[in-house]
Amino acid sequence: MSPLARLGHQLQLNENPYGPPPSVREALSQALSSANRYPEFLPRRLPRLIAERLGVGADHIVVGAGATGVIMHIVQEFGSGGAGVVMAMPTFDGYPILTSMAGGRPVTVPLTPDGRQDLDALAEAIDPGTRLVVLCSPHNPTGTLIAPREFEKFLHRVPTTVTVVLDEAYVDFVAGEDRIEALALVEHHSNLLVLRTFSKAYGLAALRVGYAVGAPGLIDRIARWQLPFGMNALAEVAVRACYAAEAEIEARVEMIAGHRHRLTAGLRELGLSVPDSYANFSYLTLPEPDIDRVAAGLAGADIHVKRYPTGIRITVGDGDATDAVLTTVRSTVQ
Ligand code: PMP
Repeated sequence: MSPLARLGHQLQLNENPYGPPPSVREALSQALSSANRYPEFLPRRLPRLIAERLGVGADHIVVGAGATGVIMHIVQEFGSGGAGVVMAMPTFDGYPILTSMAGGRPVTVPLTPDGRQDLDALAEAIDPGTRLVVLCSPHNPTGTLIAPREFEKFLHRVPTTVTVVLDEAYVDFVAGEDRIEALALVEHHSNLLVLRTFSKAYGLAALRVGYAVGAPGLIDRIARWQLPFGMNALAEVAVRACYAAEAEIEARVEMIAGHRHRLTAGLRELGLSVPDSYANFSYLTLPEPDIDRVAAGLAGADIHVKRYPTGIRITVGDGDATDAVLTTVRSTVQ
């Protein structure tokens, strides 16, 4: 068994259940014969490749070791010296953790009872000590989406001295018509950074590739934190091969959407409360005592999920994982 393989149903990290398509695996195997060579001193080719794909200038892109690596550089630039970083709570754990690592102050705003980020309360939490505000769409852990008009209204409320991060780690799971026109907004808002990753829909979590899109001045400020030789050389090979295998990637995204639909519908049939999710996970909203019972049931069935104070986040796995979750949850609530 590969040392990277893990047992049970691993539904706690919002990973793609499917390994890379064969053509991507083949490109990576061939690239391994050059593993003795360093990558570029600072990444130039990878941002160019992504920029061409998105139809923006290469000076609009900064890459990092996963979106996590880019977030680290963003908080190093904007979140140090006790600066306020406004974010929803709960959110992707990386935000409070990395903000504190960089010497910043996470300022947290509770989600609404239906699992949405409270945009009014987030805007009101911005004060003269704030340098960064973070929104995720779809949101982690609830999978909810910010409507394009709501986001634009929010952007206009934020002072231009505050940088706005729009984290779109899961955007590839969102239907085109529901998406925020994030790249167009970057052209008009020099304080906006859009964050994306190859870890989710593209299934390259092990290779650590993420990026931000923003105005060149902002991108330069983040790029100056990049570690020399810090980007994995296989990242570029994998991204290039994934772009050439877009149809297979899309087919996986559709399969995951199908399983998500079945998981959500199955959980709702049990009378459980699950917000509409636009990502590769579903959030089971539960009262406190039930969380423990359902979480214990899932753990007993070797199904690994992530527990929150108001519920349980379950990554959408393959068909077997969906069956296993539904069977187990049914047995714990009936
Ligand atoms: N943003 C969000 C909202 C996430 O959920 C995650 C990973 N779970 C990330 C960023 C980081 O992803 P990665 O570092 O793998 O690119």
